[in-house]
Amino acid sequence: MKQARQILNNTFGYHDFRHHQADIIHTLIEGGDALVLMPTGGGKSLCYQIPALLRNGVGVIVSPLIALMQDQVDALTQLGLRAAFLNSTQDSTTQQATEQALLGGELDLLYVAPERLLSSRMLALLTRTPLALFAIDEAHCVSQWGHDFRPEYRKLSVLAERFSKVPRIALTATADRRTRDEIIEQLALGQAEVYINSFDRPNIRYAISEGDNPRERLWRFLESEHTDDAGIVYCLSRKKVEQVADWLTQKGRTALAYHAGLPEQMRRQHQMRFLREDGVIMVATIAFGMGIDKPDVRFVAHLNLPKSLEAYYQETGRAGRDGQPANAWMAYNLQDVITLRQMMSDTDANEQYKRIAHHKLETMLGLCELTGCRRQVLLACFDEYLSEPCGNCDNCLHPPVTWDGTEAARKALSCVYRTGQRFGVKYATDVLIGKDDERIKNNRHHRISTYGIGCEHKAQEWRDIFRQLIAQGYLDIDPEGHGALGLTAKARPLLRGEMELQLRLRPKRESKQAQGTRKASIVLSAQDQPLFEALRVLRLRLAREQGVPPYVIFHDSTLCEMASQRPDSEAALRVVGGVGERKLVRYGRAFLEVIRDCPL
Ligand code: ADP
Ligand code: ZN
Repeated sequence: MKQARQILNNTFGYHDFRHHQADIIHTLIEGGDALVLMPTGGGKSLCYQIPALLRNGVGVIVSPLIALMQDQVDALTQLGLRAAFLNSTQDSTTQQATEQALLGGELDLLYVAPERLLSSRMLALLTRTPLALFAIDEAHCVSQWGHDFRPEYRKLSVLAERFSKVPRIALTATADRRTRDEIIEQLALGQAEVYINSFDRPNIRYAISEGDNPRERLWRFLESEHTDDAGIVYCLSRKKVEQVADWLTQKGRTALAYHAGLPEQMRRQHQMRFLREDGVIMVATIAFGMGIDKPDVRFVAHLNLPKSLEAYYQETGRAGRDGQPANAWMAYNLQDVITLRQMMSDTDANEQYKRIAHHKLETMLGLCELTGCRRQVLLACFDEYLSEPCGNCDNCLHPPVTWDGTEAARKALSCVYRTGQRFGVKYATDVLIGKDDERIKNNRHHRISTYGIGCEHKAQEWRDIFRQLIAQGYLDIDPEGHGALGLTAKARPLLRGEMELQLRLRPKRESKQAQGTRKASIVLSAQDQPLFEALRVLRLRLAREQGVPPYVIFHDSTLCEMASQRPDSEAALRVVGGVGERKLVRYGRAFLEVIRDCPL
């Protein structure tokens, strides 16, 4: 372990191990297997990189993310390590050269796509090579229930059979119990030590709001918190992705679209720009993001409701991997719920799958309409319990006001019942406020007892009430019936007056909310800002020269530390987190010069 620490210090430039890193590394060095569950940004890579360096032979990393292998290898090369990758995007000459390097013992780390690893040629090659370990990254891809299922992953148990002496480590950031058990079973990791880290991402601030005009609200959020930061905006449909990207571009931001319908070439180019330029906003469907290890994504915004809480947590987890403050911001409305329900019932999936999907959406809605701490509920989803409210979510920062909605809820439910459970929110609202309407008259609903009994609330308020009744499971939307509302079993005691119901009050003004809270962005004093900017410029130039992403040279957090501490010698610079020996030699002088030349 002493050597492991030296590598951490000298090669990676970090002072201490985080979380379970030290234990995991120890297990692997000793030849044991490990299953590692750590949130995004937790520091999974070091867990296999360091043992791979310390053990004899090459560390083989299985990863489905072939588009990112180049960047991973670049980052390791910057640290002075011998790394390479093998996947289908390379020409045969490059592949052969890498194979030769592998056989010649010239590699510390080799990244391979699963289908490549499983080829008989590759397996034969590996039997002739000393192996330090196998790392199976994104291990949740073995799970059939997850959204990233990859059939090849199920065949990786062959590694246990063919290379029984080589330690294996499986890593993932998605980790409900079912996925965990599936990984252990499918990858034959019965003997593995299991390391489960806290899934909390305290640097991410969660905020969710409902209402009209989400795009305008997104813009206000960007203007007030992220005027030139990189971030991701998720939308449900491809069309919306393109509209929002165009709109942000017109507004003067660098915004790029990403969805499965765009040509491969363009997707790759957009991803590349997002990774390599500063301040790019990626507007995307969920097709974008797995394995994107850009550390300085400062915000993830959702313009639609995600399908499940797990998906939401994973998507928002792409913000703030560097541990600096970041925002997870969401705007949604009732239409999202209806659209998602319809999408779910339109799939050919079996009934059980639909039921699970339905349940997941309900849990997601529950999070949206929550009046308590959002983080507590999110973490509970991973069997983790926070004893205190977090203090860094919208509900903690601005506790929502609730009101006794029992009477209103009863009126709403009984109106749905009396109109035959065949109509949607708008119609029920019109009946409640006693609107003079042809359709209502034709249906003779101006004669029923609930016609006009809800005049004390405006239409907008009724919409809020209906939405919360849906979110809390008192009403159901019939996916085949164009958004028709129906009563659930849960509605009965409420209708009978056997229970009370608290509802959230719509915040009067959003801008008022934002006031008086500190921003969730990187904290740098005004006097250090110019130096930080100058360091960024240098970093970008160095990155361009080598064709690598800027963060591969230094992370924002490293630049921040440089800007605030102003090291004046190589020795002082070496103490800054993220400055290892190799980078000191390569870049030390250039960065010290910029620091010296920037007046305080
Ligand atoms: P993930 O778990 O998402 O794969 P990474 O391995 O990419 O996370 O690590 C996230 C970031 O944290 C990286 O920039 C990495 O260099 C940094 N990091 C990892 N371990 C440490 C540590 N012990 N001290 C400081 N920074 C670390
Ligand atoms: Zn909270």
